[in-house]
Amino acid sequence: MAQRPVFLIVGGGYVGLYTALRLQKKLARGRAEIVVVDPQPHMTYQPFLPEAAAGSVEPRHVVVPLRRTLRRCRVITGAVTGLNHAERRARVIPLEGEPYELSYDILVMAAGSVARTLPIPGLAEHGIGFKTVGEAIYLRNQVLARLDAASSTDDPEVRRRALTFTFVGGGYAGVEAFAELEDMARYAITHYYPRLSTADMRWVLVEATGRILPEVDLDMAAWTVKQLTARGMDIRLNTRLESISDNCVVRLSDGDEFSSDTLVWTAGTKPNPMLTETDLPLDERGRVVCEPTLQVRGLLDAWSAGDLAAVPDLTKESPGATTAPNAQHAVRQAKRLADNIVRVLSDKEPMPYRHKYVGSVASLGLHKGVAQVYGVKVKGLPAWLMHRSYHVSRMPTLDRKVRIIADWTLASMFRRDVVPLGQVHHPRREFLLAAATGGTNQPARWAADLPAPKETGMLRRASGN
Ligand SMILES: Cc1cc2nc3c(=O)[nH]c(=O)nc-3n(C[C@H](O)[C@H](O)[C@H](O)COP(=O)(O)OP(=O)(O)OC[C@H]3O[C@@H](n4cnc5c(N)ncnc54)[C@H](O)[C@@H]3O)c2cc1C
Repeated sequence: MAQRPVFLIVGGGYVGLYTALRLQKKLARGRAEIVVVDPQPHMTYQPFLPEAAAGSVEPRHVVVPLRRTLRRCRVITGAVTGLNHAERRARVIPLEGEPYELSYDILVMAAGSVARTLPIPGLAEHGIGFKTVGEAIYLRNQVLARLDAASSTDDPEVRRRALTFTFVGGGYAGVEAFAELEDMARYAITHYYPRLSTADMRWVLVEATGRILPEVDLDMAAWTVKQLTARGMDIRLNTRLESISDNCVVRLSDGDEFSSDTLVWTAGTKPNPMLTETDLPLDERGRVVCEPTLQVRGLLDAWSAGDLAAVPDLTKESPGATTAPNAQHAVRQAKRLADNIVRVLSDKEPMPYRHKYVGSVASLGLHKGVAQVYGVKVKGLPAWLMHRSYHVSRMPTLDRKVRIIADWTLASMFRRDVVPLGQVHHPRREFLLAAATGGTNQPARWAADLPAPKETGMLRRASGN
């Protein structure tokens, strides 16, 4: 190995950021070059995305800037599209410019997961996921813009379609986003839309299995369904999305059909498909096969953890059990992984990763939540407080913790901020209109006069224009 080995960390999310932070802290300056490659210039703290979508925290505060945090690392904004570990070379597509190859000595594969979609007619054209800060910002604008649209027309069909919000997938990401956004829309209608009633809204959560929130016990999941149903939300268990048509008619496997401008897909994730362009060993689910030490099986100097890694779960008796894809494991695995790399560099044996899952906390809107931690079941306000205090304590960097607490404090002092900023999705529209009318003061006929935005369906409507 080179005197000053190059560490390549693919992905600057939970695992990538925490591994890099620990390595830059533990390795003496100049001992290694740490290179972090990620298409985004920031790590996203995904558990706060539902609160960002609901406007309880500023979206910028739920992301951690990589360049500012990883001062002793080289950050490349781009994507690794594949790698040959036998030759220690990775292919990188930078944000701009030609793809190139990057040589390295030690690999940390931490590119996470992507939405697990199905070939459902219309899904790719009309659906949106819920994994990025862009999607959270978009959905907030979409929901609020739909209230504006419904309130500004007398056409009953347009109103019904605008006020119907469909979510597919009842894991914590889906349930939290569903509940938080409904809570925001309910507040907005109650306070600012006299022409609308909360009863006009229809929020549908479609779940293929017989329960939601698999992370908590069945009684807690059933309690959550009861709470959401009491808010007028429609939870369809044992039901699948069959299709969504060009004019936004959603068809479900139980035979129901309705129009919905908003379709959010949160039905699980799968390992980053980029792994198939590598020579790393993958299991039948497409995950990197790891030893309990987080070394990639059978390879020297390759490590992995997080959503894309099959890490043996040493706390479970069943043979072949692997750790679940969640932040709790990702953060702890990253720390063990970095410590193990340092141990190996010091000719010590790496240690196995072992962590017993302690439970889940989920927010269901302002002052509402559900939690099950160390077997203790908590509901309502105490669970919501647990959700907030746990996640702010886990948020990387003091700067972000303080900003989030400041957001919450300010929000508690004023009315809820429910203005849609849908213009950010089509920032050139105003300018194009000015150019198209040539300053002749022609009446603005938005939809007819402007070039069609690239996106279709729901995306086209998000601007609220
Ligand atoms: C809405 C939501 C809420 C959640 N809430 C919770 C919760 O309450 N509790 C909990 O335990 N877990 C929660 N999770 C799950 C948790 O966020 C993930 O398990 C965790 O982020 C996994 O960490 P990771 O490092 O493996 O992946 P990520 O954090 O997703 O990081 C992967 C990184 O790789 C980058 N990347 C992707 N492709 C490439 C490429 N080709 N080259 C280079 N980089 C690439 C991505 O941009 C990203 O930055 C939630 C997830 C979501 C979506």
